[in-house]
Amino acid sequence: MIRAGMDVARLNFSHGAHEDHARRVALIRRIAAEENAHVALMGDLQGPKFRVGDLPPAGIPLQPGATCALSASAPAPAIPFPHPEVIAACGVGQRLLIDDGAMVLEVVDHLADGGLLCRVIFGGTLTSRKGVSAPGAKVKVSSITPKDARDVGFAIAQGLDALALSFVRRADDVNELRDLVHQLGGNPLLVAKIEKPEAIDDLDAIIHAADVVMVARGDLGVEAAPEEVPFYQKRIIRRCQLNGKPVITATQMLQSMIHTASPTRAEASDVANAVLDGTDAVMLSAETASGDFPVESVRAMARIAHNAEAHLIESQRLTGMGNLRPQRSPAHSAVDVITDAVTCEAVELAEDIDAQAIVCTTSSGHTARMVARHRPAVRILTLTSDPRTRAYTAFMWGVEAELRPLPGDVEEMFSAAAAVAAARGFAKTGDRIIITAGLPMGAGAGHTNVVKVQVVP
Ligand code: PGA
Ligand code: MN
Repeated sequence: MIRAGMDVARLNFSHGAHEDHARRVALIRRIAAEENAHVALMGDLQGPKFRVGDLPPAGIPLQPGATCALSASAPAPAIPFPHPEVIAACGVGQRLLIDDGAMVLEVVDHLADGGLLCRVIFGGTLTSRKGVSAPGAKVKVSSITPKDARDVGFAIAQGLDALALSFVRRADDVNELRDLVHQLGGNPLLVAKIEKPEAIDDLDAIIHAADVVMVARGDLGVEAAPEEVPFYQKRIIRRCQLNGKPVITATQMLQSMIHTASPTRAEASDVANAVLDGTDAVMLSAETASGDFPVESVRAMARIAHNAEAHLIESQRLTGMGNLRPQRSPAHSAVDVITDAVTCEAVELAEDIDAQAIVCTTSSGHTARMVARHRPAVRILTLTSDPRTRAYTAFMWGVEAELRPLPGDVEEMFSAAAAVAAARGFAKTGDRIIITAGLPMGAGAGHTNVVKVQVVP
């Protein structure tokens, strides 16, 4: 999978014990080192996912039109549902979607024992621990559950590069996780998973608070209607691109490849369209976690994505979408105006003078993000001395990173940029490259103020 193009591995804390994850972390690190590759490790926190409790092994039938009770405390035949905070948030008429919408209940009354009386709208056989969502209900729980807090501790102890937060509702959910990881002495990248429509109301603030955003289409398609998912996807990606934040499009991208060695045409279209929408990254879930064709899935995804990128400019012309000249971030966005202007110029200059690469020196990754957001036709190379920043580039569209000590002065930095670009095959003697930098050197993040045209010696 690494050879086929995997940049990031997700460890989904919804499944498996810490020992299992620790084994996989060690395995991925060992193989990445053997392959001389860098694979970023992302822990994915389960978040407040509500589930029914344990039921008889055969499950219980839910007949359409029948009523049933859901209760945090009453015995059978009530369906055990140990989430009083969800019960409290459900008004009459609230729909409850079970198992990603396979079964649907509607609340008809609150019971004296604190439970809910529901009518079955779409039935089925309910088995233990199936997920329940209550779209639109304002459930008063923290986005970081006690289980998540334990998983955060594990992730920090393992030195994972990134942590994804599920069911983000507002920017403060991300800020809360940021405080927790700092308290525990870690500083992983934070990924905000957008899978609740209410997150859209706070989208710009969430994008600002997070390092990476994920369009988590699985739960989004339950919390909102599936037909809305493509439009959430486009809006979220567009806002991320304007703000220069990497965005992942996730879930069911090559779903049929769980059992089949090649993708459906619809899936090929979906992955390509995510790239055309402007996603930085595409993610596989069950295809690689438990499917029969994990390597073929990564290969197929890489092929489709590369091909879509080759068509990116053509497609923008065909649809009239996008703008071939770099567009500045909107005035109200939180990006630094100087870096924004300088990186716009760098991209335009690179295309004007036929440069072979844009090389950015970056401490936080900010400049690389701001270059990548334009999807330039030239390659992007980042020089950084910070392993966290190198991991960050794994989430960014088209950015490759070289981890090296900071150069002592600006001349050394320009020559190092040319030397690394040449050594890594980005450019050869006589080629032009564009270098971006922040002077004075070592001033820290957000100080990009120089664009240099360099001929590779
Ligand atoms: P999950 O998140 O796989 O952790 O549920 C992704 C999604 O909901 O799409
Ligand atoms: Mn999800």
